[in-house]
Amino acid sequence: MSDIYQNLQRIKESLPDHTTLVAVSKTKPASDILEAYDSGQRIFGENKIQEMAEKWQMLPKDIEWHMIGHVQTNKVKYMAPFVHLIHAVDSLKLLKEINKQAKKNDRIINCLLQIKIAEEESKFGLSKEDTIEILADNELSALDHVKIVGLMGMASFTNDEKQINQEFENISLFFKELQPKYPQLKELSIGMSGDYKIAIDHNSTMVRIGSSIFGARNYS
Ligand SMILES: *Cc1c(COP(=O)(O)O)cnc(C)c1O
Repeated sequence: MSDIYQNLQRIKESLPDHTTLVAVSKTKPASDILEAYDSGQRIFGENKIQEMAEKWQMLPKDIEWHMIGHVQTNKVKYMAPFVHLIHAVDSLKLLKEINKQAKKNDRIINCLLQIKIAEEESKFGLSKEDTIEILADNELSALDHVKIVGLMGMASFTNDEKQINQEFENISLFFKELQPKYPQLKELSIGMSGDYKIAIDHNSTMVRIGSSIFGARNYS
């Protein structure tokens, strides 16, 4: 049996029932994705729109494609016909463009708001204040073709488990705080290969796992 199959089984067994596995296939060939597909995996995450669109064209059409990377407004049109969930939305301007392109395709596109939880400066994402502002914005309620279904966050890239714990706790509490007012927020996308077990302890509903399934990525 292949490594991909075995890795998938092992990870799936360690996930609670309410946690969805997004298999992050960025940089990996279609053959790897098909191997995971043949093991039953249907949800895949990519971080480049063009790469995702190419894979969408050549692979089985019952795959759910998730865009997990930073999105440039001018590229939304290339994924609007098929993308299932956009994880890293960080502005009203981007939501407006997603709405426009979704409308052209007669679709409603699900989105997560990316919250900045890491202390590192490099990470994208919204502050809590900006998030509350977007959710309450009257312009948002006019966007019939986008639906904000949850939050996404990335912890700092560190071995300090205490810090990761704190960052995930932070977003998890914020998520719980928002839910009574915004019951459409159902997904909390936190956890990657190195930290998904900690994310599960903080009520992750969606983990985005790449290298633990497909092996290390080669960017050369
Ligand atoms: C690459 C990536 C992942 C997966 O990372 P691994 O460490 O390989 O599991 C998860 N989330 C985002 C946003 C990514 O870019």
